[in-house]
Amino acid sequence: MNNSQSQSSSATNSARASQRQNQQLQQEHADVCVIGSGAGGAVVAKELAEAGLSVIILEAGENHDPTTFGSYEPEMLRRLFWDNGLRRTRDGAIVISQGRGVGGSTVHNLCYAVRPPQVLLDRWSVPDLSSNFARVEQTLGVTQIQEPDVNRLNAVIRRGCEVMKWRGVVQRHNRGACPACGSQCLFGCPLSISTQDNPTRNGKQSMAVTYIPLALAAGARLYSNCTAEKIHVEKQRAIGVSARLPSGKLDIQSKAVVLAAGAINSPQLWLKSRLPNLNRRVGSNLHLHPAVFVGGIFNETIDGHLGIPQSYYIDEFLDLEQSPNKGYLLMPAFGSQMIVAASLPGFGEDHRELMERYRHIAALLVLLHDRTTGRVSVNYRGAPNIAYRLRRSDKRMLVEGAINAARLLFAAGATEIVMPYTQHFPIKTEVDLEIIRRRGIVPNDIMLASSHPQGTLRMGENPNRNVVKLSGESHAVKGLFVADASLFPTSIGVPPTLTIAALAEHVASQIIESGIVQ
Ligand SMILES: Cc1cc2nc3c(=O)[nH]c(=O)nc-3n(C[C@H](O)[C@H](O)[C@H](O)COP(=O)(O)OP(=O)(O)OC[C@H]3O[C@@H](n4cnc5c(N)ncnc54)[C@H](O)[C@@H]3O)c2cc1C
Repeated sequence: MNNSQSQSSSATNSARASQRQNQQLQQEHADVCVIGSGAGGAVVAKELAEAGLSVIILEAGENHDPTTFGSYEPEMLRRLFWDNGLRRTRDGAIVISQGRGVGGSTVHNLCYAVRPPQVLLDRWSVPDLSSNFARVEQTLGVTQIQEPDVNRLNAVIRRGCEVMKWRGVVQRHNRGACPACGSQCLFGCPLSISTQDNPTRNGKQSMAVTYIPLALAAGARLYSNCTAEKIHVEKQRAIGVSARLPSGKLDIQSKAVVLAAGAINSPQLWLKSRLPNLNRRVGSNLHLHPAVFVGGIFNETIDGHLGIPQSYYIDEFLDLEQSPNKGYLLMPAFGSQMIVAASLPGFGEDHRELMERYRHIAALLVLLHDRTTGRVSVNYRGAPNIAYRLRRSDKRMLVEGAINAARLLFAAGATEIVMPYTQHFPIKTEVDLEIIRRRGIVPNDIMLASSHPQGTLRMGENPNRNVVKLSGESHAVKGLFVADASLFPTSIGVPPTLTIAALAEHVASQIIESGIVQ
């Protein structure tokens, strides 16, 4: 090393040392530390704070000001999603959208508020959750979507469904008045403000404007931009959490820890913290509800970007009573220009011509109730490694779903079907649908997306097969609870938010009843 190199390296070292000195170590105490502020974490925090416990919420992302939500995609993807919206399975085949920020994925989700059929909950052996569902629905302001709020995209899909004589329903949602402002629902809702400031409710009713303000009003303390890095356990009992803040480190001592960081980050943190994993079930049982997009090009203007993107869906092919392990939903789908551009096939001139039809596209998502299970592990840097390979029966089901979606779109008046293959194969008649069957579902040949990761810290009473008990408490670590989509024993098949929230309320009651926080 020459003289100037050694001078510059000692300058760097002293800069690092002074940076370290400026990094503060903050210490906190609480009865319960909740990691994650999404569909599960927000509910647990509010319930425990209202029961008089001292609660700290850690949230890795920012505390959004909804009035700053806009339509500039690169910025919103960076602000609202993990990995800038590009989180993927290890083979790159499935993009997994997961929210990051106060309110978690409920900030950008599309507000279908669906209770699963009781038969599924019975199969999971969970206690009766009907009163939990009712309370959650009330707090989130769940109502039936009214006819004037069914936008043209959903109306066209319904028209096709009626021609096919399939079963479809206008759903309920957790959303106040939607003025169809043309902003991208997927990037949050600029109108949603705390229900405490606006009891009449406008816009999307995410956890950020419902449960979180209630938790704070009851005394909970929220740290945003604060990533939990390690859960501490002593004598098989959770005793606290270490987290990283922009200003330094935060150490929290608590009597209980609730892991609600979502179905990818919760097992990641468990494994990174080297918590017990004797049966090797932590991170296994990953379900994704993988979805394939099927677009229809219409002569009429659809303008799917205006109004509520999803108000209706078709459940003709999902019967959780008769066929508990298979099926799919057909959901209207719409994306921002960037997302639609990424989903459309072809390149150059061909792709440009399709994009020029943006306002004339109505699309369906085939959302698979998947039997496939994957696994979340951690790589050498502690980042999540998501392995998931569709089994053959699930691929067949997605092909069948895509063909049915295309048939519906033709029935509604589509003149061409576009599929998100790498190449553009024009599908102009029902006979051309054979292309979909022949091409099949080949990873990285067709774009697949997931918005509902679940199942990675599975609940159940058998400690050999499950990670946590039905109370949400770990089989191996006392005082460590899970309260997010990781709990699901199987794929749920329907939009999961209400179930996550109802289960989280149940877990909160179990924490109180357990007496662990006295
Ligand atoms: C595009 C899209 C549309 C959707 N539409 C619907 C719908 O219409 N209806 C429906 O029911 N569901 C919908 N969902 C799914 C639903 O939003 C999620 O299933 C649900 O929010 C998951 O809840 P969760 O508590 O498991 O995780 P999340 O809500 O994702 O919350 C987890 C939180 O933990 C934080 N976190 C992660 N790691 C750490 C850490 N180490 N330290 C601190 N914080 C951490 C994350 O930043 C995040 O805020 C949609 C999802 C997407 C992506």
